[in-house]
Amino acid sequence: MATGSSEPAQETVHAPFGPLPSGGSVRPITRWGMPVMHTAQQKVTVFDDALRALAADMVATMEAADGVGLAACQVGEDVAMFVFDCPDEAGERWVGVVCNPVLTLPEGKDRRLDDSDEGCLSFPGAFVGCARPDYATVDGLGLDGEPVRFSGDGLLAKCLQHETDHTNGTVFGDRLSARARKKLQKQHDAAVDEFPADWPA
Ligand code: ZN
Repeated sequence: MATGSSEPAQETVHAPFGPLPSGGSVRPITRWGMPVMHTAQQKVTVFDDALRALAADMVATMEAADGVGLAACQVGEDVAMFVFDCPDEAGERWVGVVCNPVLTLPEGKDRRLDDSDEGCLSFPGAFVGCARPDYATVDGLGLDGEPVRFSGDGLLAKCLQHETDHTNGTVFGDRLSARARKKLQKQHDAAVDEFPADWPA
């Protein structure tokens, strides 16, 4: 996920299931319209060095693009996995890797929508409001195949939902009205020169 605001550098980094894998290579980011972006991704069943290497590439790519989250389909891989490095409402930074994510969202009186701006690294240069629950929990597996769970509010809630959507073949444009989608397209078209096909590699 992309964020329009530049967050101040945070000292505290929460990594309850270990740090993000490092040493990966920056890859070009796959754009909306490519088939891999619009189909549900294959579940991870083998937790090996190749999976770790893919996650490391995703982290390097997310950092190069200044994003807060990135799914495997965004580097062209049909794998249900995402990485994130994202602040919550309090500005606390959370990092993690989630394979085979499953979301749990608040219901009933606990369900409040946050329609703040959202952007996607696979449709760069464009941000519009996208209403989503203001709190989210995601369950999945880590790179070692052991269960992980992350919960959060603020931008983190949005990010966990946005990235889980990617693993299900949904992009946030799919959640917008025709009018909002048009506004997003216009911004993206205006910024096209800033994002060549191999960006951010
Ligand atoms: Zn995205």
